[in-house]
Amino acid sequence: MGEVCVKVALRVRPLLPNELIQNHKVCVRIVPDTAQVMVGSDKLFSFDHAFGPTATQDEVYNSCVQPLVETLLQGDNATVFCFGQTGSGKTYTFGGGNLGEEGGIIDRVAKNVFSLLGEKKNSDGVETKVRVTYLELYMEQLHDLLEPHNTDKELFISKNDKGNTALLLLIPRWYFLFALDSLGQWWWEPKKFSVTSAEELLSVVEAGNVLRHIKTTGMNEHSSRSHTILTLQVEQGFPNNNPSLKPSCSSKLCLVDLAGSEFARKGNKESRHNESAHINRGLLALGNVIRVLATRAHNNCKSTHIPYRDSKITRLLQDSLGGTAHTLMVACVSPSHHSIAETVGVLQCAAKAR
Ligand code: ADP
Ligand code: MG
Repeated sequence: MGEVCVKVALRVRPLLPNELIQNHKVCVRIVPDTAQVMVGSDKLFSFDHAFGPTATQDEVYNSCVQPLVETLLQGDNATVFCFGQTGSGKTYTFGGGNLGEEGGIIDRVAKNVFSLLGEKKNSDGVETKVRVTYLELYMEQLHDLLEPHNTDKELFISKNDKGNTALLLLIPRWYFLFALDSLGQWWWEPKKFSVTSAEELLSVVEAGNVLRHIKTTGMNEHSSRSHTILTLQVEQGFPNNNPSLKPSCSSKLCLVDLAGSEFARKGNKESRHNESAHINRGLLALGNVIRVLATRAHNNCKSTHIPYRDSKITRLLQDSLGGTAHTLMVACVSPSHHSIAETVGVLQCAAKAR
């Protein structure tokens, strides 16, 4: 506790039925009993965890996400990112809306958080409150996926008095200027839903996903071009029988499904204002922040500048990265030889984050 902690897990999905039919070859293999992966016959990468095509959602959850839920309930912030090419298994890994075998990280987090909070209430009388926010970041614009009526408004990120990341909701642009000039502080927070069970939490997530799809009708492959950020905020009120303990604490867990990594390279050639360039900037900035945090953890130094301000995604996640927060990056890759160039790019990037 108290130390910056960045862990990197790799997940290789199985070949999909259409890839099998088209005779794709497997070119990514986990070295048995290690957290290393071999691409082709000569490129070896090391991670904190490596999951092959037969790994179950349970294995992924139990070995690398469950510890973060404990971190969360101990009062520290945590973040999980899924990073990788479009079609590599990021959304599959996150899941959301399925409490059965096929559920992913979101489903298992939901179940786990509420069962642990239930135990804490029964044994120690801890009062708890869980709230959820769900945002989408597309072309450096934030949209609140839990606000059906505000879908065409933008949220701007700023800092509020307490130093927490706050969001300013804007209607037309001139309103923004007015708000800042004359009133100084018109801060809106993203819509927070209080939830009291895993089922309730997942139905909020599903509602957000529906909104995301409605809004994006007609936009080709939109989900691969935007980041989504699901945040679970847990407040715990402890019974007042031990005055040396804090009476309450609040912590959050962010689950971030990132845009496809392939945009990180394409952006370089195109205009500064296009979609790829925006995605590119966000992914690069995030990579830089995570790298600086990992280096700080290795060298045990605290003085290095962390470039949070370089993009919206890093500003938004500022209080969930660094400090006492724990970060897990899940790099997802396809095993197919057709994707080998992109896969090597993702593995290089992920290996640098350790
Ligand atoms: P992404 O979100 O990275 O674009 P998806 O999660 O949508 O990718 O996955 C692409 C396809 O691969 C989906 O049909 C998904 O069901 C399948 N898939 C991904 N990972 C796995 C896995 N570990 N096991 C089985 N199928 C998977
Ligand atoms: Mg996806």
